[in-house]
Amino acid sequence: MADHSTAAATLAAPAVPLIDIGINLAHDSYDRDRDAVIARAHAAGVVQMVVTGATLAGSARAVALARAHPGRLFATAGVHPHHAADLDAASLAGLAELARDPTVVAVGECGLDYFRNLSPPAAQRQAFHWQLELAARVGKPVFLHQRDAHDEFIAILREHAPHWRGVAHCFTGSAEQLHADLQLGLAIGITGWICDERRGAHLLALMPQVPAERLLLETDGPYLLPRDLNPKPASRRNEPAYLPHIAAAVAQARGETLESLARSSTTAARALFALPTP
Ligand SMILES: [Zn+2]
Repeated sequence: MADHSTAAATLAAPAVPLIDIGINLAHDSYDRDRDAVIARAHAAGVVQMVVTGATLAGSARAVALARAHPGRLFATAGVHPHHAADLDAASLAGLAELARDPTVVAVGECGLDYFRNLSPPAAQRQAFHWQLELAARVGKPVFLHQRDAHDEFIAILREHAPHWRGVAHCFTGSAEQLHADLQLGLAIGITGWICDERRGAHLLALMPQVPAERLLLETDGPYLLPRDLNPKPASRRNEPAYLPHIAAAVAQARGETLESLARSSTTAARALFALPTP
């Protein structure tokens, strides 16, 4: 028995610990098998995860998950630009209460999304300002979403400088946008978008330009299943166990080993979100 437990412990200790900094684990597509998803992630070496909150209710669910898995799961509390029109004084107070919870390691996701404009741009800007102020008040970083709104996004962040730290989650932009983000001091979150040869190929050449201490990895599951994953799950659902696949693509694009990227990105994630070392 002792021999068996030693073997199990050796197997369970991942050679390359990774942190998924953006996983929508409170999403209902995980309702039937969430514990198995978490177990597969740990078996794949994803030792910690930051569960994304995108609405007030979703952020509360993310906090509940983080409380149930102390030291392993953490949460963000925020209102995504799609839902910005729902953010009023009452829900902002609720968000502020959540943001102070010890399991909450960032405010967000927040930002601007003019691709679909599911909330009017003026409401998006207001919600973004409020959440940047909230992050400064609670002393936590921001988890940022931006699509088709880069110039205004940068302008608003600049207005609030130097009172924030944060990550541009799911970066998919151009070299020019990358340089603007880096110049502002943002960390860069890379998803499986980089594994899509139709729309993510331009990111490969940008990877060596991101300083190691500001490069973070995320799946954004259940969205953005890496397109070159083989075999693909029948469900087409992305999950954190696929993070090593994304990490391997990023490491190759940077001309470094998976171990080296894992070490730097894990250190960077712990530094930004003040995560404990398990
Ligand atoms: Zn997002």
